Amino acid sequence: MSQQEPTSNFIRNIIEDDLEQGRRDAVVTRFPPEPNGYLHIGHAKSICLNFGLAEDFKGRCHLRFDDTNPVKEEDEYVEAIKDDLRWLGFDWGEHLYFASNYFEQLYQYAEKLIEKGKAYVCSLPPEKIRELRGTLTEPGQESPYRERSIEENLDLFRKMREGEFADGEHVLRAKIDMASGNLNMRDPVLYRILHAAHHRTGDSWCIYPMYDFAHGQSDSIEGVTHSICTLEFADHRPLYDWLVQELEIFAPQQIEFARLNLSYTVMSKRKLLQLVTEKRVSGWDDPRMPTLVGMRRRGYPPEAIRDFCDRIGVGKADSRIDLSVLEDTVREQLNESAPRRQAVLDPLKVIITNLPQDEIECSAANHPQKPELGKRSLPLTREIVIERSDFMEDPPKKFFRLGPGREVRLRNGCIIRCDEVEKNETGEVIALHCSCDPETFGANPKDGRKIKGTIHWVSATRGAQVPVRLYDRLFCDENPDKLEDFHQGINPESLQEITAWVEPQLLKAEAGEAFQFERVGYFTADGNDSTPGSPVFNRTVTLRDTWAKVQNK
Ligand code: ATP
Ligand code: MG
Repeated sequence: MSQQEPTSNFIRNIIEDDLEQGRRDAVVTRFPPEPNGYLHIGHAKSICLNFGLAEDFKGRCHLRFDDTNPVKEEDEYVEAIKDDLRWLGFDWGEHLYFASNYFEQLYQYAEKLIEKGKAYVCSLPPEKIRELRGTLTEPGQESPYRERSIEENLDLFRKMREGEFADGEHVLRAKIDMASGNLNMRDPVLYRILHAAHHRTGDSWCIYPMYDFAHGQSDSIEGVTHSICTLEFADHRPLYDWLVQELEIFAPQQIEFARLNLSYTVMSKRKLLQLVTEKRVSGWDDPRMPTLVGMRRRGYPPEAIRDFCDRIGVGKADSRIDLSVLEDTVREQLNESAPRRQAVLDPLKVIITNLPQDEIECSAANHPQKPELGKRSLPLTREIVIERSDFMEDPPKKFFRLGPGREVRLRNGCIIRCDEVEKNETGEVIALHCSCDPETFGANPKDGRKIKGTIHWVSATRGAQVPVRLYDRLFCDENPDKLEDFHQGINPESLQEITAWVEPQLLKAEAGEAFQFERVGYFTADGNDSTPGSPVFNRTVTLRDTWAKVQNK
């Protein structure tokens, strides 16, 4: 997929070195989502990294669902995640795995640790375990159950599996070091009792492995060579390494990188779920959400997301990327690919009093820089609409659009002059009466007339009115996670629904198709609400970064 030279980063360097030094002879990575929510742009960074490395080193990348928590996980999310990955352009081939497929193997590993005297059943209540764990400055205290015999531990652990105990009655803990400077090494819990049905294994199990016991061992079972995760797992690495070493199994290497943080948004699945359940947005695929389904519906091309992930790079320091960086890649991509159309969001009627015919077929290029994208015809009629902001009754000198007695060029049309301004009783301008220069028709006029302003327009008799949703940032606070309650940062004006005038061609827009409405922005036909012949448009992104302007004022 990546035609260009891959961008270098420290992980790539580690892998190159591993291959050169013969520490590894193949590259196997994995993307390990927990199926408890939809994927967001942060996940895209991890996906592009893991699949990208596998591709560049001719290895493979597994899609593994980390489904060890039966309470929050659902099949709906599994299917949605697969869909998102395909949409982004990645393919896991036959390498689709579920951590839950390893439950029996993981259980056997746990017995092995018990037999080696490296794990024990602890019968302290969860609060007590937490209390005895100590703090960063104080060592923990050993559990009174730490010295149980191997036989007793095996017997209790088997009974845990058989369902003889209630939730929370016992746990299995690794026997490492309660005085370790690393809290994760203070006899971490490996298994807990949970009488809950699992989305794949049903009621087969009532004990479930903890993340730390499942993740590394799953990597090992699959032969993952480089297990790439976000920085918060750096403190878990000693445990990861300890487990594969004690179990004497294939040892993958865990490498941490900085997660993606994006301004003006939240990325925690818990908060995103809250936005959905509280109906602050219309769903996980609301076009304002940082989810991949949301961005797809908004009209972000997958190439733009991959390009964004490439540009932001992979590092070790936590940082926040400004949302405008993502919006810029979307703009750049759409500028290349989106056909041009004419649409008016805030209409003002214009009557062309001397148009020689009722209707003139004008020809308009679909893309000014790409003649290969062809042309379309655009009907110019006596009544048209223009953007209200393209007229001023008392314009300043530098206003090159319409004003009384002034001339302007209609894009792909002709030059018109404003002869008369029609107002209603309250003095509001309701129509402009204009005359056209009949010598000036044509998409690339060579009439030699120097007219500074060109404006867009739509025929009021041949064009159509369609719903358009103007989306803006969901949060007006740059870092909503910092607020006491992230809801306080919600932008009350993140969605404005209007009716816009569009040229007739736009009625043929297919769901998901993106266009540049000339001089207005990029818009995409909504994938859920558009029907053949009646599109609903979402504003994908404005033509320029309007937020930068606000901040520089
Ligand atoms: P949350 O903390 O909101 O529950 P998560 O990180 O637990 O999200 P997972 O489904 O476990 O979500 O994530 C799958 C993979 O995506 C993990 O390897 C994780 O490190 C990575 N990932 C998640 N969020 C980001 C992010 N913001 N930037 C980069 N990688 C991320
Ligand atoms: Mg996680």
